[in-house]
Amino acid sequence: MAWDFSTEPEFEAKLAWMREFVREEIIPLETLDLDPATFDRITAPMKEQVKEQGLWAAHLEPELGGGGFGQVKLGLMHEVLGQCRFAPGVFGNNAPDSGNAELLALGANPEQKDRWMHPLLRGELRSSFSMTEPGAGADPTMLSTRAVRDGDEYVINGHKWFSSNASIADFLIVMVVTEPEAPPHSRMSMIVVPTDTPGVNILRDIPVMNHPTHYPQLDGGHAEIIYTDVRVPAENLIGNPGDGFKLAQQRLGPGRIHHAMRWLGQSKRAFDMLCERAVSRETHGSVLADKQMIQDFVATSAAEMAAARLLTLQAAWVMDTVGAANARIEIGMIKYWGAKVLHDVIDRAIQVHGSLGFTGDLPLEQMYRDARAARIYDGPDEVHKATVAKRLLRGYTPVTVPTEHIPTRRDEARKKFADQLEAVTANR
Ligand SMILES: Cc1cc2nc3c(=O)[nH]c(=O)nc-3n(C[C@H](O)[C@H](O)[C@H](O)COP(=O)(O)OP(=O)(O)OC[C@H]3O[C@@H](n4cnc5c(N)ncnc54)[C@H](O)[C@@H]3O)c2cc1C
Repeated sequence: MAWDFSTEPEFEAKLAWMREFVREEIIPLETLDLDPATFDRITAPMKEQVKEQGLWAAHLEPELGGGGFGQVKLGLMHEVLGQCRFAPGVFGNNAPDSGNAELLALGANPEQKDRWMHPLLRGELRSSFSMTEPGAGADPTMLSTRAVRDGDEYVINGHKWFSSNASIADFLIVMVVTEPEAPPHSRMSMIVVPTDTPGVNILRDIPVMNHPTHYPQLDGGHAEIIYTDVRVPAENLIGNPGDGFKLAQQRLGPGRIHHAMRWLGQSKRAFDMLCERAVSRETHGSVLADKQMIQDFVATSAAEMAAARLLTLQAAWVMDTVGAANARIEIGMIKYWGAKVLHDVIDRAIQVHGSLGFTGDLPLEQMYRDARAARIYDGPDEVHKATVAKRLLRGYTPVTVPTEHIPTRRDEARKKFADQLEAVTANR
């Protein structure tokens, strides 16, 4: 199958529009301390412009109001949007709502789509994905929150945390054990729980590294929730009982492409700051750009970002051509490679700015704190590395003598070319 690195001119024009729009309209908002109402008032006309461009909620298929772009184009789009934390929201595809809409598009029935997904896409509702528990995260087979069928209802009991946006969400998609006797990956289901259902007790937004001291006003924080005898209609279950793990895998595949490309948008912004500082700051008789150690920062960052970009677009291309299930290795690689590149490029950008890089006068310190989480959320790096390694190792069989063992190969080669070697010896 052909591998084409070019972008269609029509989509390139859209990307150019997005680049300017994000730079001129959205990034300036970062510098203002806006309350949610003012933020909504300022961004409402921006969202209309995005809709006019046909770029609103572009992650879904056209019949659901999306662009039907496929993962490669969506990846390129997320690279632009990733530059600014407000941009995905203005384009109707901010996490976790975008992933939840994709999940509902995959697994929900028509009534559930009408009730939850379409309003989500129109930006009328907000959502949260409530899976991780204090006692279980990287290994979802250890989740213990239970939903027990009682007549036409499920009754949910359990303890979740890190449910991003839950404190501002209208509904939660909760991962629960409904089939405790089934094999580990078929025990769980996803159930939609309106946040105002009695028994949903949002204890707190957990203080975290990127929002250590206060509740973030514009994005909800990462909530800790106790579910106590929460009753929801059985029809709120998405897909079939036991489908939870399968749906979660499908939800997270495209999401990881988008994350990785947004990380590249962030990395590029940090890289631009690094380079600008390098050509501007004089010390010890020359600009930083003349120092070989700083040149190494520039060259290494550029190569790492280029590698991350190619890996990510390749993963997107594999998904578009042969489906997400066949892209597990590629998706795993971009998660741990992309998160590390993001961290390291921002770190170098901070370093070349010296004390200024450590201050809140530049966006780098916030970017650095955000970047640290990338190695943990959506599955920690180690789990993705293990998946990649296990899958790659499946292609190998144990041997008693290494295949490349030269003496063994020499003996085989001697046998293979015995006639010719004999003829040469005879002619000497
Ligand atoms: C900013 C942020 C937002 C999040 N948003 C959400 C959300 O919206 N909804 C939600 O449900 N969850 C969310 N999470 C939770 C996230 O998905 C989990 O933190 C993640 O899956 C890891 O689970 P854990 O924290 O329980 O770590 P644990 O499972 O306790 O793992 C701890 C560490 O052990 C190591 N480890 C684990 N497994 C292996 C292995 N197989 N091999 C080697 N080492 C291993 C890794 O270093 C890992 O970091 C969020 C987390 C963060 C930081």
